[in-house]
Amino acid sequence: MSKVIAVANQKGGVGKTTTAVNLSSCLAYKGKKVLILDIDPQGNTTSGLGIDKKKINKSIYDILINEADINDVLVDTPVENLKLCPSNIELAGAEVELVSSISRETRLKSALEPVRNDYDFILIDCPPSLGLLTLNSLTAADKILVPIQCEYYALEGLSQLMETVKLVQKHLNKNLDVEGVVLTMFDARTNLSIQVVEEVKKYFKNKVYRTIIPRNVRLSEAPSFGLPIILYDPKSKGAECYLELADEVIEYSEEEVQ
Ligand code: ADP
Ligand code: MG
Repeated sequence: MSKVIAVANQKGGVGKTTTAVNLSSCLAYKGKKVLILDIDPQGNTTSGLGIDKKKINKSIYDILINEADINDVLVDTPVENLKLCPSNIELAGAEVELVSSISRETRLKSALEPVRNDYDFILIDCPPSLGLLTLNSLTAADKILVPIQCEYYALEGLSQLMETVKLVQKHLNKNLDVEGVVLTMFDARTNLSIQVVEEVKKYFKNKVYRTIIPRNVRLSEAPSFGLPIILYDPKSKGAECYLELADEVIEYSEEEVQ
């Protein structure tokens, strides 16, 4: 059975997509079978993995709205062992269309059932909101992984996110748990970054990953080449850190099985 991890934070620009793309690529690079779902209408995960958003046949939209079979939607990526469920701007309408539909929060969960035995990890890149797309992800997930940017107001909005997790646990998915918090865009030269790390550790305690992702220009360049960092610049600091993060994620999931 795969472990389903939703990469979520309702703030935009904190590193969700960068983390989803690169963590899933690194897990695949280490030999795990991985599926990444792009559930953000912006489709940055889709284009970041070199898939032309305009040329995709079916997308996550068809899964959520037209009950398409997930196996008809998945596409290959430049990374061996990594499959993608793509998204494009069509998904922007889904949130509204879902409001009046039956089982609107559990559609993704049901859609994933047929492939849950095919992968070791399924990662979901969530949009920057707490709307129905994110609720579908949290309902389908075993775990939530929260990227936090080492910037001003880093902790702002996190109590709201944790409230949402509690509500999902109560009403939709009692097994949902926090997988971990990953600090992103860390700049060792600034006191601010160091302070944010301390604050986040105070708040989330042992849920914070040892690996901290530094600000690394190669990480921000890679998506424009449609490549994850591990293929774009495997020797970069960014690649090294996402490989370390993948090790931690594998380590924790093995501990859970024991
Ligand atoms: P989100 O998905 O949360 O909106 P992104 O992953 O798209 O956030 O990141 C926002 C921007 O910051 C993007 O332009 C991305 O390339 C850049 N970025 C993310 N992580 C890093 C990093 N560690 N170093 C440098 N730039 C980064
Ligand atoms: Mg994103």
